[in-house]
Amino acid sequence: MVLKLETSAIKEWNGYKGRPFLVTGPCSAETEEQVMETAVQLAKTEQVSIFRAGVWKPRTRPNSFEGVGVSGLKWLRKVKQETGLMVGTEVANEKHVYEALKYGMDMVWIGARTSVNPFTVQEIADALKGVEIMVFIKNPINPDVELWMGAIERIARAGITKIAAVHRGFSSYEKTTYRNQPNWQIPIELRRRIPDLPLICDPSHISGHREYIHEISQKALDLNFDGLMIESHINPSKALSDAAQQITPDELKELLLRLILRSPSTTDPKLLDVLGELRQQIDIYDDYLLDLLEQRMKVSETIGKYKKDNNITILQSARWDEIVNRAMTKGKSKGLSGELIDNVFKAVHQESINRQMKIMNEGLTEHNGTDKQNSK
Ligand code: PEP
Ligand code: MN
Repeated sequence: MVLKLETSAIKEWNGYKGRPFLVTGPCSAETEEQVMETAVQLAKTEQVSIFRAGVWKPRTRPNSFEGVGVSGLKWLRKVKQETGLMVGTEVANEKHVYEALKYGMDMVWIGARTSVNPFTVQEIADALKGVEIMVFIKNPINPDVELWMGAIERIARAGITKIAAVHRGFSSYEKTTYRNQPNWQIPIELRRRIPDLPLICDPSHISGHREYIHEISQKALDLNFDGLMIESHINPSKALSDAAQQITPDELKELLLRLILRSPSTTDPKLLDVLGELRQQIDIYDDYLLDLLEQRMKVSETIGKYKKDNNITILQSARWDEIVNRAMTKGKSKGLSGELIDNVFKAVHQESINRQMKIMNEGLTEHNGTDKQNSK
């Protein structure tokens, strides 16, 4: 299903200075000096559209710095007056919305811990009814595209037209290189479902560490994201929140210079020719893949029948280990990543099991635990 919302294209927003639409500023507003110094430095970088700073901070544990509250909004208003940058902050309830509007925020964002909660998002949407403001909606912390879409719809139904989705990664139990899993397939799926919605990447919260901000930003641009939200602090090592992931305004400037902006399409006939030919090759290989999958599944089904006739269980862990190890060794020698091999083989194996299950259960009654269809 493709969702059509009454949203306006990012190119028509006031303050749009081209791709990437850049939102930057510290994780938190800490003092007037820190906010003003960071903003004055950032304003020297032409591409910056919006200065961001959190004044109410959703911290995982109590006794962490929870933000300076309304006084931070006064500093943001001063940033707007003195640098001409637009300003934005995070809102997590109706009271925050009223305060943010009172102090003239151009943008508010809904954080990842808020977009998970439809009651709170609705409360924020109701408080924003009829207001001309940019609203950025971060993905919920759990990888649920429906929940993200739901939050976007609630805001759109309040009459807000300048909406952007912000991809900031997803929580997971496993310790990985990045602080939050990017799960790129989720923002890609969001774009497929709401094609006109501006999409912004927040590499700071995905990475959790400044070292990875460039590579994540580049990837987002290569996936045709419209903008970036990057945390920048005048003195990152002294930051009261998210110290490891913030960069100085100078580092931001340097990072922007290193980003390569590729264009989403081309009209150059020569390039189109080459691309057309390569895409034909891809289609041919994809057809091979489909034929191979069909053949492989037929063999799996034959094995399923054989297991049923001989009363053998479907899942045989030793055989599965053997398949995966063989594929890993062979695949890696062909330059394929472990991640690809793992994903493809897990999917193929699951499909084989599903088919063999169906065969096993054919003709059994509902009473024996099979579904209704099979028992008919
Ligand atoms: C933030 O932008 O500082 C923030 C708290 O973000 P998130 O909601 O993505 O954790
Ligand atoms: Mn932060």
